[in-house]
Formats: sequence, C-alpha cells, structure tokens
Amino acid sequence: MEGKGKEKAIGIDLGTTYSCVEVWQNDRVEIIVNDQGNRTTPSMVAFTAEERLVGDAAKFQIFSNPLNTIFDVKRLIGRRFTDSSVQADMKLWPFRVVSQKNGKPTVEVSYKGEKKLFATEEISSMVLMKMKTIAEQYLQSEVKNAVITVPAYFSDSQRKMTKDAGRIAGLNVMRIINEPTAAAMTYGFGRSQEEKKHILVFDLGGGTFDVSIVVVQKGKFEVKAVGGEAHLGGEDFDNSMLAYCAQHFNKLYKTNFFVNSKALRRLRSECERAKRSLSSVVETIRRAKFEELNFDLFEKCMEVVKRCVEDAKLSKSQIDDIVLVGGSSRIPKVQEMVRNFFDGKELCRAVNPDEAVAYGAALQAAVLNKEDIHIVMVDVTPLSLGIELVGDVMKVVVPRNTSLPTRKETSVTTAYDDQTAVDFGVFEGERPLVAFNNLLGKFVLRGIPASPAYAPSIKVCFEVDIDGILNVPVHDKGSGASNEITITNEGGRLSIQEIDKMILDAEKFHREDEEAMEKHVAKNALECYVSNMKKRAMKAKSEGSMDADVPEDLISTITAVAEWLNDIDNVTVVELQDKLKELEMKCLRLFSCKRFKFIKSEE
Ligand code: AMP
Repeated sequence: MEGKGKEKAIGIDLGTTYSCVEVWQNDRVEIIVNDQGNRTTPSMVAFTAEERLVGDAAKFQIFSNPLNTIFDVKRLIGRRFTDSSVQADMKLWPFRVVSQKNGKPTVEVSYKGEKKLFATEEISSMVLMKMKTIAEQYLQSEVKNAVITVPAYFSDSQRKMTKDAGRIAGLNVMRIINEPTAAAMTYGFGRSQEEKKHILVFDLGGGTFDVSIVVVQKGKFEVKAVGGEAHLGGEDFDNSMLAYCAQHFNKLYKTNFFVNSKALRRLRSECERAKRSLSSVVETIRRAKFEELNFDLFEKCMEVVKRCVEDAKLSKSQIDDIVLVGGSSRIPKVQEMVRNFFDGKELCRAVNPDEAVAYGAALQAAVLNKEDIHIVMVDVTPLSLGIELVGDVMKVVVPRNTSLPTRKETSVTTAYDDQTAVDFGVFEGERPLVAFNNLLGKFVLRGIPASPAYAPSIKVCFEVDIDGILNVPVHDKGSGASNEITITNEGGRLSIQEIDKMILDAEKFHREDEEAMEKHVAKNALECYVSNMKKRAMKAKSEGSMDADVPEDLISTITAVAEWLNDIDNVTVVELQDKLKELEMKCLRLFSCKRFKFIKSEE
C-alpha cells in the first residue's frame, strides 16, 4: 500500500472556536474524530484545582469555571496588549488577560490552587497537542509532522507564533498555509480541471474573515489575491447580540450583566445558540433583529470581497465559482449578500464549511510527506512589506499579493556625512506612513566606514519563505558589514530558551493530563465495581440466597472502599488499581461461598 509504514503527516485547522485534524490515508483524506466522536474539537483550555482540560472536556465545564476556561486565543496570538481589538475583546471575556513587560498579552488563571500565567503560544500549543493526540489515537502511532493553517491575513508575527506553538506541542511544523488556500485545494482536488478557473473562497469563521481568489488548473493552485479582516467573524456577531441582550437585561433587572462573568458566559452561549438556529429556521422577527445588529459587519465583509476582486484585476463575472467556508458562512443574510454581489450567481456547496480547511492542510501535508499525490500550490504575501525611510515614509519592498517564496532587493544609503550606523525599521501594511502600519522589528547596521552622505550603498534583501515568514539580511557593499533582523522585540516572539522551557512544561502538563486521565479511569472502574457489588449484595441479602453473614461482610467491605473513595486526592493510580484488585479478590471469595450454597441447595 502506498505510504505504508511511513510516518503520517497531519493537517490541522487551528480555528478560533473549533479545530479540526485530518490525514491522508488509503489514497484519500480522512477526517479524524476525537475521543467524544466529534469531527471538530473546541479550541478551549480549562484549568481547575486538580487538572487541565482541553477541547470538549473544557467546554463542558465552562459555566462552572468561566474565569479559568480560555478560548479565542487566536484573537490574541501575535498581538500587543494595547491593540484596540485586544482591549475590546477583553471586555467580553470572562477570563483575565494581563500585559507582560514586553507588551504581550498573557492569560492569568488559577491552576491547582496557584496563580499561573500562560503565553498565548502556550495555550495554542495545548490545543495543538490535543489535536496531535487525537490523531495519534486514530493512527495508533506517534505523529510529529503537521501542516497548520492560519488566516491569510495573519501577520508575520502571528504566523511565527503559531509555528512556535506547534513546536511547543512537539510538532514539526512542515508548513504554515493560508486557510482559504487550503479550502481552494479541497475544492480543486479530484477535479481534473483542464480549463483555468477563478475561484473565490469566502471564509467566515469564528474570529477571522478571509477572502482569496485562486486560479485552479490541472492540480496547480495559484493564489491571485487575498484580503480579509483579522478580526471579524461569528464571535463578533455573538458579541453584538450579547451587548444588545445584556443592555436590555440591565435595564429590565436594574443590574450590570457585564460584571457577572458567569451570567455573561451563559448569555453569550445562548446568543450563539440562537444565532445558529436562526440560520435554519424560517424568517422570524428575531432573525431580522440579528441581521440589523450585524448589518455593518456583513457590509464590511462585502467590501473586502470587492477589493479582493479588484486586486486580482478581475471583473465579478470572471469569478467561476464561489466557495463558502467557515461556520459563519451558513448565515443566510451573508449568503444572500454574496449572491447579490455576484449578480445572483449560485454558491458552491461541494465542500464542507467546517472541514474543508483541515482537508486542504492534510493534502498539503501529504504532498510534503512525499505521498503519491500531485498538487502544486503557489501562495502570496497578504500585506506589503517594506522599510522605514526618513520622514516616517514606508518604502515597499515586497508588494501585497506577491507569489511565495520571494526574494526582493533594494538599496539604501546614509543621510548625513560620516554616518557609521543605520537604523532599520521593518513594517507590514498598506499605508504610506509607517505610523499606520504594523512594526515587525527594528535593527541597526553598524561598522559603515565614515564617508560623505549618500555614498554608501547598503543592500537590503527581503526574503519571504513559503510559510510567509520574513527574513531581512542587510549588507554594506563597501565595508562588508552585515546584519539580519531577528524579530524579538516589537513582535514579542519567544526566545529559544523560552520555547525550550515551554516544550518541557508542555510535556510535563501532558504527562499530568495523562495521569489525571488514568486516575479518572481507575477511579471510575473502582466506583462501577463498588456500585455493582453493592447492588448484588443487597439483592442477595433480600433474596436470602447467601449465608446470612456473607452479604453483611460484603456490604461492610464495599462501604469501607466507598468511604476511602471519598478522599482520594493523594491517592495514586496504582493504589486505585490495587484497591480494585483487592476488592475483586474479596468479592470473588465471598461470591464463591454463595455459589457453594447455591450448588449445595440444588443437590
Ligand atoms: P469556524 O471558525 O469555521 O469553526 O466557525 C465557527 C463559527 O461559526 C462560530 O462563531 C459559530 O457560532 C459559527 N456557526 C457555526 N454554525 C453556524 C450556523 N449554522 N449559523 C451561523 N453561525 C454558525
């Protein structure tokens, strides 16, 4: 069999609200269900007095533990604490986000009775490790290699931090690919596309909105243009409903919902549920209210679509198919607006909006794993990249929508006589003034020989790899001085030492989780056995089918174990297993007495 015995490579869609993992196996992509039998897993991590929970288990207990249940971390990763979006989100999150010295947002929780801080990469790594474990259980072998998807609009630092999260989770991140590109691959895979087709992928998920125009032809996927909003999705629709309802209830009950984290969480969940059902129930006045509350956000989506079509230098009529991806693309109003924008064109329903991204990631993982599958993907830079010139002007070196990988050069010089050092600021964004763009990092080139202004010629090279990650080597031709950007300051990326520490912590947490799980299983087995035996003993007692002292003896043994089970905080898995064995032996002995009596009575 193709690929037999070879280590598998998985595709992970690390979503804001849900994550999904798929794998290429038996000549097709298989979706991997989690331990609860679900095809997607909540991107949630919870901390309790005893344990750490990830995925469905974290979601189950969110109402009882809102302060220590972390979700939406994708909205935080690679951002600064002072970002307006972080500040706005924080108002609606029940958990606490604090600023680190380097300006990075960090979550603060209470775990095993202690206050603990976790970096956003660490929380993401916990979700990734869960997805890794789900895949390992399914494949019955260790999994290391993975392709992880990110929104096309993710910045350089958001991509790097997602990659770091993968490393912390013990994954070899083979590639970071854009979510809409992955969805386009899903769309195109298996279609023997002779003719060139322009596909628009409309990806509206929980936290982000992405649009891509991809040219599909004969197994080749070439991204023409990308656009989107790093902060627009289903949770914003929930938030507008939440704000509306909370204000309404505040007035009605003369209270302040916003300070009651439990009530807020419950209300948010109800809003989300109502939103989902409004996608399938017939038009109601509540649906009209929902659409009214979110109309501006829906309009914003359409502006992005319009700009993306323009960027690809296409007319609306040249778009051959529109692929809807992401849970929020199910909203009827959104679909109607997309359809209307494309003059009534039918939308493609061939791909599953929740699974298409992980499917594409699994395809890409299979290609990189050298499986027998032929796809070529050419992605683009989502934002222009450039350097700061005198007067705070942005000089674009790599324009937006340039195919990846790319390497572009430019030259700079000194501004005054005998200048021996030059400061470099590297930015991403579309505004002419750097102040409105996103600073990726700063560095200095020293050792330039003293010379008149404008004499030196310093070569600046922008290298963007296939993951969309940027490296900027600079070189002064005259002196041979060189330097290279390492984005550790403004981007707030973790240092190698910090990552190594987090890898160790992640392994420790993983072991602890496994121990906690084994303890749950052992405790459960013992509890089940105790309860069964108790029932049998009571039955035997009432039927008189045993010697009179046997059920009494059994009941007191069982009661003692049940009491012991009430206080097992400091008990190990082995002790629980030993207790079960001991009880089984005792019960077996006592029940064999019963059988003896039974046989005797038959004689
Ligand atoms: P994703 O990030 O693709 O997993 O999308 C998750 C988002 O889709 C969440 O905000 C969900 O509330 C939203 N969603 C899922 N199903 C529906 C639906 N039927 N109608 C509206 N929104 C939905």
